Amino acid sequence: MAKKKRPERQKDKSIPFKERISTFKEVPLGFTVRQALLEAERCLECKRPRCIEGCPVSVPIKDFIQLIKKKEYLKAAEKIKEKNALPAVCGRVCPQEDQCEKVCLLAKVDKPVAIGKLERFAADYEAKKLKEPKKPDVKKVSPRRNIKIAIIGSGPAGLTCAADLALMGYRVTIFESLHEPGGVLTYGIPEFRLPKRIVRREVNYIKSLGVELKLNHAIGATLQLDELFERGYEAIFIGVGAGLPQLLNIPGENAVGIYTANEYLTRVNLMKAYLFPGYDTPIKIGQNVVVIGGGNVALDAARTALRLGARSVTIAYRRTENEMPARIEEIEHAREEGIIFRFLISPVEFLADDNNVLTAIKFQLMELSEPDESGRRKPVPVPGKFETLPADLAITAIGTKANPLITKTIPGLKLNSKGYIEADEFGRTSREGVFAGGDIVTGAATVISAMGAGKNAAQAIQEYILKKYQIKQKI
Ligand SMILES: Cc1cc2nc3c(=O)[nH]c(=O)nc-3n(C[C@H](O)[C@H](O)[C@H](O)COP(=O)(O)OP(=O)(O)OC[C@H]3O[C@@H](n4cnc5c(N)ncnc54)[C@H](O)[C@@H]3O)c2cc1C
Repeated sequence: MAKKKRPERQKDKSIPFKERISTFKEVPLGFTVRQALLEAERCLECKRPRCIEGCPVSVPIKDFIQLIKKKEYLKAAEKIKEKNALPAVCGRVCPQEDQCEKVCLLAKVDKPVAIGKLERFAADYEAKKLKEPKKPDVKKVSPRRNIKIAIIGSGPAGLTCAADLALMGYRVTIFESLHEPGGVLTYGIPEFRLPKRIVRREVNYIKSLGVELKLNHAIGATLQLDELFERGYEAIFIGVGAGLPQLLNIPGENAVGIYTANEYLTRVNLMKAYLFPGYDTPIKIGQNVVVIGGGNVALDAARTALRLGARSVTIAYRRTENEMPARIEEIEHAREEGIIFRFLISPVEFLADDNNVLTAIKFQLMELSEPDESGRRKPVPVPGKFETLPADLAITAIGTKANPLITKTIPGLKLNSKGYIEADEFGRTSREGVFAGGDIVTGAATVISAMGAGKNAAQAIQEYILKKYQIKQKI
């Protein structure tokens, strides 16, 4: 009998780009049931599935894909949630091309299985069919009920740590400084990539596991970390991210019309500028917008500016497209939408009119050096070559660093030279009972790496509590 031909890698549809650029509707539409079945069929069902090793939270990828193959879509969603409390988020924003899909065996002979899109499919299917997400059937292992654990920060690191500890049977409370939970998922990543209803649903799922959420609690200001111990929390996980924007420190940076991406995206997402005229948020709508940077944050800011009504949006990046850290899918979408890319240019001065309102940006032209010992080619200035781009709105997206609000207020907590918390791979810090993970330890990274850190810390907290109680019981 002839061997069955493997289906091609499926691609989901996107909303037409003309419609896209004037709305904040989600761009990729996700797989249809037929596409999910065809894609699931492509899985080789490897004996040693490398994809799972490539996933920082070890999602049982092979098992959930097999369930999709059997048309058991709800069970597939449940299977993912054994390891990942945010499947619809991860199915949308994870850089799968650098993780699970990169090590998929099929990639040696064909395109890898579209694992991320299948994850999204299973999570979205569940959301369509069930009002309340189903909890995975996991055995509680907490030594005693009523042991209280505090989590500081409700981004992906904190949410994951909280969900795992709740599933183990602990009483978990998350303290979040903002009025909405989700961290960057809520205030950073725009609606057209990650609709807020998706984040809300997954946060509600985590709450349904018994996690309490205290919003408007900035630890280090509203309450100190040691006060949490005094209130009976036996271990504390810090997952406060690294949201303090870096500045360029070049002349003219205080002109009117210059935002950091962090401020710009927060105004749009959290203060709902994208719902104008329903919400009249103070934000400048640029005509000629220039975004400085080459990562996901820069692309998010650029595509947001376009949707808010800019006539032209340019991304200015000091390296070339090959070095851009943004996800390939996002670069493709941005191109389709008409974002202009300018490579090998680096800003040296913001120019403003007599009222200090931004009018243009002066750039130094750059080239890439010969590779150094690590093989990396650095951008270096081309002597005497400059170019000026007109701009009435500039958004800088050149990275973020640790916010010292909490770290500086914790006696005995070791920080590294850049101000990030020193922690081992299980999140153990220099303070007993204090664990940390996510961007506040690694610097700006990814959703899934923050989730992996939250998961490892939950294990370490469990070990810490078990040990503590064995000692107490002996006394
Ligand atoms: C615009 C943008 C787009 C991105 N796109 C992607 C993407 O497509 N894919 C991807 O994988 N990654 C992406 N990232 C990176 C990713 O979002 C982060 O790496 C990840 O969110 C880090 O998770 P975290 O839990 O460590 O911190 P965060 O998500 O930053 O969450 C920290 C939380 O702690 C709260 N907090 C801070 N200080 C305190 C305090 N003192 N007390 C109480 N609460 C506090 C904050 O308000 C926040 O809610 C993007 C980042 C940005 C900014």
